[in-house]
Amino acid sequence: MEFYFKSNELFKSMEHFALGIDIGGTTTTFGLVDQKGSVQFEKVIPTKDYPSADTLLKEIEAILKEENLLRSLVGIGIGAPNGNSQTGQIEFAPNLLWKGIVPICSMAMDIFHLPCLLINDANAAAVGEKMFGAAKNESHFVTITLGTGLGSGIFINNELVEGAHGFAGEFGHIRIIQDGRSCGCGRKGCLETYASSTGVVRTYELFTSNANKLNKEVVSAKEIFDKAAKGDAMCQEVVEYTASILGNALADFACFSDPKMYVLFGGIAQSGDAFTKRVQHYMDANLLKVLQGKVQVVTSQLHNQNAAVLGTAASIFWKILKNNNQ
Ligand SMILES: [Zn+2]
Repeated sequence: MEFYFKSNELFKSMEHFALGIDIGGTTTTFGLVDQKGSVQFEKVIPTKDYPSADTLLKEIEAILKEENLLRSLVGIGIGAPNGNSQTGQIEFAPNLLWKGIVPICSMAMDIFHLPCLLINDANAAAVGEKMFGAAKNESHFVTITLGTGLGSGIFINNELVEGAHGFAGEFGHIRIIQDGRSCGCGRKGCLETYASSTGVVRTYELFTSNANKLNKEVVSAKEIFDKAAKGDAMCQEVVEYTASILGNALADFACFSDPKMYVLFGGIAQSGDAFTKRVQHYMDANLLKVLQGKVQVVTSQLHNQNAAVLGTAASIFWKILKNNNQ
């Protein structure tokens, strides 16, 4: 997050907004976020309508100009698949029409004349939680993003840990079961093949077939969690199994980064506190003695729909605060 941030002369006026842009394969969501974490303007446009990143950014600029929202901007945070935070480039993203290397941050700087940074979704969620959510007062915490896969964002000593190559926090790919389920990364037994929305569905399919239940209907993780909350025994078993796998993994990871808090983010985590409590239970039961009673598992306080925009925008505010404190 260093490369494209040169100014620490910002924040001179009282009113300022960060522009958060979340680029996905199908849609791009962008919005303006104020310093308190309120999303003031948000819009969704179809990514596939734009033949290049340049044309997409120019469209965003035109929309904001028309709304008279450009003047108060202090910077731009972008989240994108295969985004390299160190170079500010999208690199060989399989789900985007824009092929090869796309220098999206320098494009944005040319168009908006503002500092820009690129951040992955798991790290954006961590910064969002730090600026506006459950981890406001924490210097040592880890966010766990439970979506199609499992991502994590790690704060140690009040710093986001990105690693030598920008891949720190690929926690979804620690292998927790030898020769376990096949993972998209090409290996077997990765945590995200169990603890993610796809992992939950795989567990459900396994449990129903073990019980000789011919369950051909397609179910989503959300449906499974909803049914569990209403008392469905099979779905409760699935939720319990998922919580035990995740809780165990969090207990082990606590030995590495010694966090005070884990924040669970994403659809299945935010369906209610019941899952979070079970994860806490299994983590507590497996924690190293010196850490027992010292690590809290909580549910994210970011609203799911705005989280990507909030997180990317938060990363700009965070960077400005860090620069000003140096
Ligand atoms: Zn994997």
